[in-house]
Amino acid sequence: MTKHLGKKLAPLLLVALMVTASCKQETEEPMVDNVLLKEWTGQYGGVPAFDQMKVEDVKEAMLQGMELNLKDIEAIANNTDAPTFENTIEEMERAGEELDRGFTYYGILSSNMSSPDFRAIQTELAPLFSEFQSKITQNEKLFERIKAVYDASLENPLPADQQRVVDLTYKSFAMNGAELDAEKKARYAAINKELSGLYTKFSNNVLHDEENYVTYLTEDQLGGLAEGYIKSAARIATDKGQEGKYAVTNSRSSMDPFLTYSTERELRKQVWTNYYSRGDNGDEYDNNTLIAEVLKLRRERVELLGHKNYAEWRLQDRMAKTPENAMELMEAVWPAAIARVAEEVEDMQAVADANGDNITIEPWDYRFYAEKVRKEKYDLNSDEVKQYLQLNKLTEAMHYVAGRLFNYNFTPVPEGSVPVYHEDVKVWEVTDKTSGENIGLWYLDPYARQGKRSGAWANTFRSHTTFDGKKNVLATNNSNFVKPAPGEALLVSWDDANTFFHEFGHALHFFSSTVRYPTLNGGVRDYTEFQSQLLERWLSTDDVINNYLVHNETGEPIPAELVAKIKNAATFNQGFSTTEYLASAIMDMKFHLADPSNIDVDKFERETLADLKMPKELPMRHRTPHFGHVFSGEGYATAYYGYMWADVLTADASEAFAEAPGGFYDKEMAEKLVTYLFAPRNSMDPAEAYRLFRGRDAKIEALMRDRGFPVPGE
Ligand SMILES: [Zn+2]
Repeated sequence: MTKHLGKKLAPLLLVALMVTASCKQETEEPMVDNVLLKEWTGQYGGVPAFDQMKVEDVKEAMLQGMELNLKDIEAIANNTDAPTFENTIEEMERAGEELDRGFTYYGILSSNMSSPDFRAIQTELAPLFSEFQSKITQNEKLFERIKAVYDASLENPLPADQQRVVDLTYKSFAMNGAELDAEKKARYAAINKELSGLYTKFSNNVLHDEENYVTYLTEDQLGGLAEGYIKSAARIATDKGQEGKYAVTNSRSSMDPFLTYSTERELRKQVWTNYYSRGDNGDEYDNNTLIAEVLKLRRERVELLGHKNYAEWRLQDRMAKTPENAMELMEAVWPAAIARVAEEVEDMQAVADANGDNITIEPWDYRFYAEKVRKEKYDLNSDEVKQYLQLNKLTEAMHYVAGRLFNYNFTPVPEGSVPVYHEDVKVWEVTDKTSGENIGLWYLDPYARQGKRSGAWANTFRSHTTFDGKKNVLATNNSNFVKPAPGEALLVSWDDANTFFHEFGHALHFFSSTVRYPTLNGGVRDYTEFQSQLLERWLSTDDVINNYLVHNETGEPIPAELVAKIKNAATFNQGFSTTEYLASAIMDMKFHLADPSNIDVDKFERETLADLKMPKELPMRHRTPHFGHVFSGEGYATAYYGYMWADVLTADASEAFAEAPGGFYDKEMAEKLVTYLFAPRNSMDPAEAYRLFRGRDAKIEALMRDRGFPVPGE
């Protein structure tokens, strides 16, 4: 939420504390020799010197960066002038410049260009980053000054954006124990230390069960499996010393296709049981008692801060604000989801009966028969769809959408004019179409490579701020497509095309920022996925379909029937996916609302599911003993609901466009989108921003329609 430092450190830490950094002393400008800390030079407001980045400079850079940062914090804390917004809060916003630059390189070396050498440095630095953060959050003199500014602002409010920076800064310190007396502070720190040990143990237990429950198949047990799956299963078995057999490992990527395609029912049951028993095998790797311990410690910690329960503490700065609001949404969708499961089970049972299979659908049958229903009902050939999805055309399509909605122009920068860390990274200049003003640079790193983490993500090297002169934005999108042979088109799946648009939505959210202070660029967990999810909707607009979704050989636009099939298939199996997700999200919340003093985790899970009338034909997406989002750290604890929260906004906002006179390219709507949903970032309350866009709060009806669920009262 605070500056980029908080954002960059968050993934490294178990508890993401809110931190800002140092202040720049004009009188004693520090000597900075390390190339990774140096000011960025060159065109476009200065750019990172990726061409000079070396792993051997990292450790020194980060150590020096932290030291400079702490020195500056001390300067703010020890200032003898009375605390003001300018000499305290604004100085904190200004701080940590060198370390921020260091983290840009650090991020690339960790996510895009990792190596064993770098990982060794990472392991060494991780506890030091944690210590560094504590030194700031536990600096009492600093907090006294922040509190003084905050208290004064309650009497004499500051301009809206400054007030929000003060509120966010003060609350993030207070939420993390800055206001406690010495005794309580010590207990607070002890609890955190104990929790971090439990989180590591939780992960290791799950990892143990993932590595040690492998199902080996023989040659005659491969029925239904695809050739690629068989090949990789054979290779894994060989690696594990079981030459001639085929290994189904205890991971989602191995389990899911096996349950979808294998015709061996008994083996499906075994694979299913292994997977959903992780952390729950009654041995020394069982997580049930450990979870009870975590719940107790979390409760004790928030009670020190005067909160009733963990959920209430966690949600205070989220869009949902209270656990009740989050529960209300989930409970509103739940009945429709389980009703749809009943229909899906009926469809599947009919297929099984027609096939003469003589079975009753059990959880290990769900994916298998759902796939048969899917083929029968939707007949969608994903390979046929791919022929119309070329990566370079999709890139052009995104730029077109950005032009229509945001008034941006994307122009490739001359080769070699901006340093990149790999030859595959391409850079575009982003300008305002009308004024020609530079908005920033867009770096695209599309291909998979050794040392690059999996998945897709977006990031910034520099964010928009104006408090120290206007800064342009350096934003980046990353994917893991397999690099095509020279001259060949790169064809991607419909899902991947959606993800490509999704990440570009994050980039547009960075580019369009109009905030004055770094803290206001921060994200709110149940809100920041909304903007990116929303942008996915432009992939299937007519303008994009007709001009960019064209066949890679014939150049013909994708046929309307095929698009209809894709859209139709989107509601398929929503009973299963909504129910398995919601069961986990509700469980997450209920565990943190319950009294943990004598909690029996296994019993609590069973009874909660019974109360919910959880269909017996499917499990939770993540059963409690291996729910890493919630128990291997605090990133998603009482936050798993956030995916659906953002989805409600996405569906509702997208209907606003569908209903507008100009549809998804309606000028007035586009202006509102930029002004209220993108540009303010976290400079105003998200609920208020949404109301300004839509004229009312979001309703869940659109989400129900999207998922093909009946809408109450329709
Ligand atoms: Zn995202």
